[in-house]
Formats: sequence, C-alpha cells, structure tokens
Amino acid sequence: MSEPSVRLRFAPSPTGPLHLGGARTALYNWAAAQAMGGKFLLRIEDTDRARSTDESLQIILAGLSWLGLAWDEGPEVGGDFGPYFQTERLELYAGYAERLLASGWAYKCYATPEEVQAGRERLQAEGKSPMYDRRDRDIDDAQRAAYEAEERKPSLRFRMPLDQLWKLEDLCKGEVEVNLRELDDWVMLRPGGMPTYNFACVVDDLEMRISHVVRGDEHFMNGIKQSVLFHALDAKAPKYAHIPLILGKNGKKLSKRDAVTNILDYRDKGYLPEAIFNYISLLGWSFSGDQDLFTVEEMLQRFRIEDIGASGSKFDEEKLLWMNGEYIRKLELCELLRRSQPLLLAAEILPESAFDQSAAYLRNALASIRERISLLSEVPEKLAYLFVDALELDKDAEKKLRKNESAPQWLAAYADLLEKSDLPASYPADRGDADIAFSLANKGEDGGESGPCMSPAQLEQQARDFAESMDVKFGHFVHPVRAALSGTTKGPGLFDIVFLLGKERCCQRLRAIAARP
Ligand code: GLU
Repeated sequence: MSEPSVRLRFAPSPTGPLHLGGARTALYNWAAAQAMGGKFLLRIEDTDRARSTDESLQIILAGLSWLGLAWDEGPEVGGDFGPYFQTERLELYAGYAERLLASGWAYKCYATPEEVQAGRERLQAEGKSPMYDRRDRDIDDAQRAAYEAEERKPSLRFRMPLDQLWKLEDLCKGEVEVNLRELDDWVMLRPGGMPTYNFACVVDDLEMRISHVVRGDEHFMNGIKQSVLFHALDAKAPKYAHIPLILGKNGKKLSKRDAVTNILDYRDKGYLPEAIFNYISLLGWSFSGDQDLFTVEEMLQRFRIEDIGASGSKFDEEKLLWMNGEYIRKLELCELLRRSQPLLLAAEILPESAFDQSAAYLRNALASIRERISLLSEVPEKLAYLFVDALELDKDAEKKLRKNESAPQWLAAYADLLEKSDLPASYPADRGDADIAFSLANKGEDGGESGPCMSPAQLEQQARDFAESMDVKFGHFVHPVRAALSGTTKGPGLFDIVFLLGKERCCQRLRAIAARP
C-alpha cells in the first residue's frame, strides 16, 4: 500500500484578525507541507455566524499572503476537496450526524440550557467535576416521545466511552493517556443543526484527507475528543502536534502588551515579512544551534514537526526589531527603494515622479541610512531633511550650534569653500541620475575617487584640511555643520549628508544659520 499523501491545513475562525499565534500555526503547517512535499490547505471555520465577519476573513487572507504562506487549496484558489468554508458544508455534517446516530455513537439530548446547568451544579455539589450529567444518554422511547411532544429542540451529543483509558501519540508532547470518563458527552450539533467546532473539524479533516494537524496546545483536549470521534467513524485520525503557547516577556500568556493582535500591524509598523517569517519560525523551533537568520529554503530543508519544542517560547520584541534591521540590510538598494516608496509617498516629502527621475539619487540616500534603521517606517523621517525647503532644527542641534561662539563664522567660511569646490549644484530635480557617478553603497570598493563629483571621502579630507587651516579641532567643527545641514545631531555620516544635499543647498543652509542673530 502506498503512503497516504501529506496534507496539512490551517483552519482559522474568521472571528478576529490573524494574530501572532495563528500566524505561527499557519507557518508551521505550511512549512511541514513544503518540507514533506505535501499540500497546504486553508479551511475557514465560520460556523460561529454571530462572530464571523468578512473583514476578519480578508485580514486573515491578507496576513497569510503577506507572510508568503500560499495555500494550495482553499478560498480564492478552490481545490478538489471544497467547499472550504464550513457554512457551505452543512449537509455533509448532517449526513455524518445521521450515521453516528444510527451507529449509536451519537444521541439526542433534549435538555434545556438551564437543565444542563443545573446538572452541572449538582455534580459539583457531589464533589465531581462539573459537566453535562448525561441525563439523556439512555432515555427510552417513551421519554423521547414525551420530549418531542413538548416540542423541545434536541442537540446531538457524542456518546463518549466511559472508563476507557485513551492514548494519544502527540508528535510534540509524546504519548499522553486520558481517562475518557473525564470528558463530556460533548455537543456535536446544536439545536437547529449547526455543527460545533470539534464535529465539523473531524468531518473536514477526514473528508479533506488531512494527514497532520499542527495547532496550539489549547486544543489538546479537543485532540482527544477528535481522535475518539475518528475511531467512532472507523477512520484513522491525523497525526496531531499540539505546540506550546507563545509566552510574553513575563513568562505568562502573550498579551496585547507584548505583541500586536493583527499580524498586518507589523507591516504597517515597517517590518519586512521575511523578518516576521524568520522570527515567528523560531518561536518553538530552532534552526541549528544559535543561528538565528536563515532563508525560507534553508528552513524548509531542515524543518520537521517533531523538532518543535515542548516548552513555551518567549516573544521578544527587541530581538524581532534587531532581526528586521538585519533583513533591511540584506535588501538590494533598489528593492529597499521599492518597499520604501509607499511610505515616502504617504509622508508627502517628494513627488511620485522622483522615483523614476531620481532613482539613483534615492538609492544613495537610502544607502546613507540603511545601517542605522530597524524599521522601514523610519525611512521618511530619516530622509526628510533632504527634501524640505525650510529646515527646522531640533533642540539638540540648536544646543550644538550655540555651544561655540565661533560656529557661525565656521559655517560661513565652509559655505565659501564648498561654493568653490567640485560638488554638484543640487540633486535631484535639476540634475539627472547620470550625474551621480559616485555611489554611497559602493564606498570602499571603488574608493569613491572616480567620477566628476567629489566623493564623501574627498569632502571629508577637504573639511579636515580646512578645519586645520582655521585652527579648529575637526571634532568641534563637524557638530555645528551637521546641525545646520540636517537639523539634528544624529544621522548619516556628515559627508554623506554634504554629498547628498549638493552645493546649493549646503551653502544656503550654512549661510542661513550663520546669518542668524
Ligand atoms: N478554528 C480553530 C481555531 O481557530 C481551529 C483549530 C484547529 O486547527 O483544529 O482555533
């Protein structure tokens, strides 16, 4: 007999956005499917009609797509085992319910919610665990007829075997044994016919030929219930892996204070999907030793469900931020520009035409900051000084300028020096990209010595000589110059700033500050 094929699924309920835990579950199922050459399905568990919304569904689909977790079967793409929305499969569940009723594995329960609650309280008062008291498990036909005559609407319950030790081999937790008496005769169909999660999930996992189920540990007892139902249906349950919860910094359950509740918020905060993917994959699994950064392909070569750890892992926002910075630095400059473009446009600091006409200039501008940013969203704020007409100085910059009385003279004299030097007049509007012969990104490789304009290294040497000729310490000289040109005390190398601003704007800014009263 040939091995059954590998099929995994992610089965979100569209009752809220895709959060970190859901994204990790989806990622592990996706990765396991890829690693074993199987299929990854997306199934929408929307039987909670009151709480399911189309908005949540769209956010979940967008979140999965953003992370690169494409599904082989499911909404939008279809597949041979659809429909992939549970509310479109109600007839199927009804058929299975009939079958289980006929075989005796299910029975009708006529109790009202109040009666169920009263039974629970009675058991509790007797010192037993509070659950449905199985009052309708073995009623006779006469009682059934009496309930029907009262027009009670029955639910359908599962007849859980009593006093049976049940073993479940969990890929993550190992073998776990449970006495089934501890489990409820749980509801499969609600009055009115809507299936509960456990029932619909088993029918679908069976019908969709799911081979492995990776999901959060909070579903472990559901795993027991579901595997017993598979047994009742004479079918083999998928292999289950119940993975530990993600913990917050304090070691407790992850809360809103620790992480975003919608994975797309990370996109909006300036994270790259590659970084989120890499980081999330490490919340319960490790690549090898202490290697934190790896490509998706590298991960897939090694990923095995069995290697997901059995203890919870802590979410560490600082590490995620660091990782994002590393991924930003891995991007080619043109790719970094492509991804920054929407943010730069939204910040309205430069016109759309600049992305065509001055792409090389913008790449250089990005090269000047990419070692210093952790989030894409920092780009507009860090580059704004290059595109404003009237520069505003922050408090620290003002302080640096006021620190030395002679600063205005230095600035004026430096402006005169730059005026005479071989620095392009301005970027990016009136000089085309062709004029950017020197590339900040290639610093060190071509030495920056070629091309018609001065490189930052040459500008620095010129400034050093200049400071010396004025008998000013270079360290003292650079602070007011930086403040006057960029409006802040932090940021890229000063001569990257001079280079990027060009002659006209440098002179104008230096002189404007020098002339202030
Ligand atoms: N709809 C369930 C949830 O979102 C799915 C659990 C499962 O994977 O079986 O938690």
